[in-house]
Amino acid sequence: MKGKICVTGIKAEARHGVYDFEAETPHPFIADIVLYREDMPSDDQLSSTVDYEKAVNIAYRVLTEERVNLIETLAYRAAFELASTFGCDADVIVHKPEAPLSRSVFDVSVTACAKYKKVCLSLGSNMGERAKYLDDAVQYIKQAAGNKDVRVSSYMKSAPYGGVADGEFLNACLIMHTLKSPRELLSLCAEAEKRAGRVRKERWGNRTLDIDIIFYGDEIIDEADLTVPHIDMCNREFVLAPLCEIAPGFVHPVYGKTAKQLLEELRGRRE
Ligand code: ATP
Ligand code: CA
Ligand code: CA
Repeated sequence: MKGKICVTGIKAEARHGVYDFEAETPHPFIADIVLYREDMPSDDQLSSTVDYEKAVNIAYRVLTEERVNLIETLAYRAAFELASTFGCDADVIVHKPEAPLSRSVFDVSVTACAKYKKVCLSLGSNMGERAKYLDDAVQYIKQAAGNKDVRVSSYMKSAPYGGVADGEFLNACLIMHTLKSPRELLSLCAEAEKRAGRVRKERWGNRTLDIDIIFYGDEIIDEADLTVPHIDMCNREFVLAPLCEIAPGFVHPVYGKTAKQLLEELRGRRE
């Protein structure tokens, strides 16, 4: 059974705000938190639920540890930390009842929603110790804040694609849940590539590590430097075959077909 746990009215005095006078005297900030649970426990065991004390302390610490301009920042930080600590979606509402406005108001509040998205990445390497580059990238992604439930396919060999690279590739697919936005995820991929010493010369060229975003939930993104689902994934056995090993039912949001169907179609086109 799904459910949610709410704690309201976590009160702190702090000096947040854009005005100098707000830094001088502490004023009240109040957080409400909501933790979304996939499985509400039915066994009446304390260990089966979240530690409320810990959740409250996280919110309180975020409200008090560092002075910031915006309550948006406080809500974002608290929601992110609660979601990553407890591995569940979390909302945080931060109230600033004494917000300095020209008219009297009852309250000002903002809400941040930290929601896990299921994403799929494709990894490839065709230089040096290929398996080690993939292993290191997986570890790097696993330890990054906001990622959970990381699953990786086996590593599959494939011939170079696009007629530029010359060495055989080792490819894998990774699926996980992440709190990161698409752009934050793209930056994480770029950082992993940088750590692998990737030198970016030409598209499809030899590389120690390449990580592409294949799916970001069911979102469709069409921007200059980011296209999701990956524009060419349906033509790539080295993407679809490892993906089918771990998530054959992942649905392509544009074509409405599963990874398994897309792989069968690709193989059918080749016959
Ligand atoms: P391909 O994308 O055809 O596999 P590639 O991986 O060799 O080619 P790169 O040189 O690694 O290409 O990336 C070129 C640019 O593609 C990146 O700078 C990035 O901004 C952009 N890009 C667009 N969509 C994506 C995506 N879904 N995942 C990763 N990068 C993407
Ligand atoms: Ca690529
Ligand atoms: Ca790439």
